Amino acid sequence: MNETKLKKYAELLVRSGGNVQKGQLVVVTCAVDDAHFGRMVQKAAYEAGASEVRMDWYDDQSTRTTYICGADEIFDSFPQWRVDKLKEQDDRGAVYLHVRSSDPDVLAGVDADRLRRATKTSREATKEHTRLTMGSFLRWSIIATPSVAWAKKMFPELSQEEAVARLWEYLLKGARADGADPVADWDKHKKSFDERLNFLNGKKFDSLRITTGLGTNITIGLAKNHVWEGGGDKDKNGVPFFPNMPTEEIFTMPDRLRAQGRVVASMPLSYQGNLIEGFEMTFKDGKVQAFSADKNQQALANIIEIDEGGGRLGEVAIVSNASPIGKMNTLFYNTLFDENASSHLALGKAYPKNIEGGDELSTEEFIAAGGNDSLIHVDFMFGTADMCIVGIDGNGDETEFYKNGEFVF
Ligand code: ZN
Ligand code: ZN
Repeated sequence: MNETKLKKYAELLVRSGGNVQKGQLVVVTCAVDDAHFGRMVQKAAYEAGASEVRMDWYDDQSTRTTYICGADEIFDSFPQWRVDKLKEQDDRGAVYLHVRSSDPDVLAGVDADRLRRATKTSREATKEHTRLTMGSFLRWSIIATPSVAWAKKMFPELSQEEAVARLWEYLLKGARADGADPVADWDKHKKSFDERLNFLNGKKFDSLRITTGLGTNITIGLAKNHVWEGGGDKDKNGVPFFPNMPTEEIFTMPDRLRAQGRVVASMPLSYQGNLIEGFEMTFKDGKVQAFSADKNQQALANIIEIDEGGGRLGEVAIVSNASPIGKMNTLFYNTLFDENASSHLALGKAYPKNIEGGDELSTEEFIAAGGNDSLIHVDFMFGTADMCIVGIDGNGDETEFYKNGEFVF
């Protein structure tokens, strides 16, 4: 990929994504294999006025090695210094910029129980940091860059070099970052969300009935006072940012107790190095009652059974099939991209911002208001070209606002 395009992509992350302000601490997480791009992000953040830009380098392969070779007990503890480090950064109002180039298969074959325990331990230890980021007290943003392994998985027929170049093309296109002025393009993109958000927030639907030709037929109760969000976010000081780049979804909060029916996934789910394929779930009173998968059912069980909220919904998101990623019709093995290709649901924790005043609620109050709490939040795709969505209001009146994979307005 040429340097000018890379530089623009780095600037997009810094300016539109994290919206770095003068004098701020910025923390960049980036793979060691991707150091060239990581350094560009660091430079762009300084140019935007950051006072300090810390680099948190990671390496998927050494993470894998530890999962395989580490002593068993290390997966049940999380170092306090890492908690303290996050706290120090959070207290300084850090902006977190994540450059992800993960190998989708890096954890394949790793002991599932170790993975489950390590996930649980780290999520529990970093709960406060998660509250601050998911609640938009801090700004953060994620973009993706190719790794060789990821590129080869998507384009096995190409040479390494060609595959990486091809994936770059796909990522920049999917992230609306391939034009002359990506920052301006994202300003325009942001405005396009407003009409749909206004419509849905005005309707205050009680529930949604969603059907697809694959066999999904589910009625999802929405939390009372739910808020539809999309097209970026604002932190507590009103500074806008984009947590995810790309983002094409409009999403809100299901009532954790009111999902009824069957959901059939429309795309495989890549979770911790396992590709869960051909899966479906049946919900009763908001909880998964039965589930099956043609492949890697155990990984699906690990999600659903991690805790009480793992088998309940935390998000319902609608995506138009005509988005740049939707049109590519490709599985990226990467949630950041795949969740913006297709309408999806999330198992696990709901976003407090998806309910009025949600950020001020304690966990107990949030749950009482219909919000789901869990250590995980895992999106899976169920949108199809023939998906239809009917909004049902408190009187039982129905409005079909999404038909055959598109919004009707
Ligand atoms: Zn989503
Ligand atoms: Zn999600």
